Amino acid sequence: MGKVIAIANQKGGVGKTTTSVNLGACLAYIGKRVLLIDIDPQGNATSGVGIEKADVEQCVYDVLVDDVETSQVIRPTAVENLYSIPATIQLAGAEIELVPTISREVRLKRALEKVIKEFDYILIDCPPSLGLLTLNALTAADSVLIPVQCEYYALEGLSQLLNTVRLVQKHLNHDLKVEGVLLTMLDARTNLGIQVIDEVKKYFQDKVYKTIIPRNVRLSEAPSHGEPIIIYDSKSRGAEVYLDLAKEVVMNG
Ligand code: ADP
Ligand code: MG
Repeated sequence: MGKVIAIANQKGGVGKTTTSVNLGACLAYIGKRVLLIDIDPQGNATSGVGIEKADVEQCVYDVLVDDVETSQVIRPTAVENLYSIPATIQLAGAEIELVPTISREVRLKRALEKVIKEFDYILIDCPPSLGLLTLNALTAADSVLIPVQCEYYALEGLSQLLNTVRLVQKHLNHDLKVEGVLLTMLDARTNLGIQVIDEVKKYFQDKVYKTIIPRNVRLSEAPSHGEPIIIYDSKSRGAEVYLDLAKEVVMNG
């Protein structure tokens, strides 16, 4: 049975998509079968694995809103063992179109039931909001991985996210766990980063991954080539750390 991990934080620009794409690719690289689901209408986790959004005829929108079979929208990527369910801008409408529908929060969970056994890991790249799309991800997930950027106000907004997690646990998904908190974009040249690490560790304790993602130019370049870092520059620091993270995720069970 595949483990479903939602990568969520309602703040934008904290490294959700970078982590979804590169953790997914690195898990695949070490031999796991991985499905990467993009549920952000911006579709960055779609283009990030080399899928041309203009060529996508059916995406996660059709699964969530129009009950299209999940297996019909799964695509292979350039990385062996890594599969994608893409998102296009069409998904922007889903947030509103799902409001009046029955079981609107459990649509993704239902959609995954038939394909879950084909994968070891299913990663869901969430949009920067706590709306219906993120609720669908948290309801479908076994756990949530929270990227936190190493900057001032790193913890700001996290109580709101944890509150949403508690609400989902109470009403929609009793077994939802916090998979881990990932510190991202650390700038090793400043003291600020160290302060933020201390602060986040005080708050989340052993939930914080040992692997910390530094700022790495190659990581920011890779998306424009439609390649995960392990393909774009396998010798880079970025590839090294995401591979470390993949191993840590596997170790944690
Ligand atoms: P989110 O999905 O949370 O909005 P992204 O993963 O898209 O965040 O990251 C925001 C921006 O920061 C992107 O341009 C991305 O390429 C860049 N970025 C993310 N992580 C790193 C990193 N470790 N080093 C350098 N740039 C990064
Ligand atoms: Mg994103």
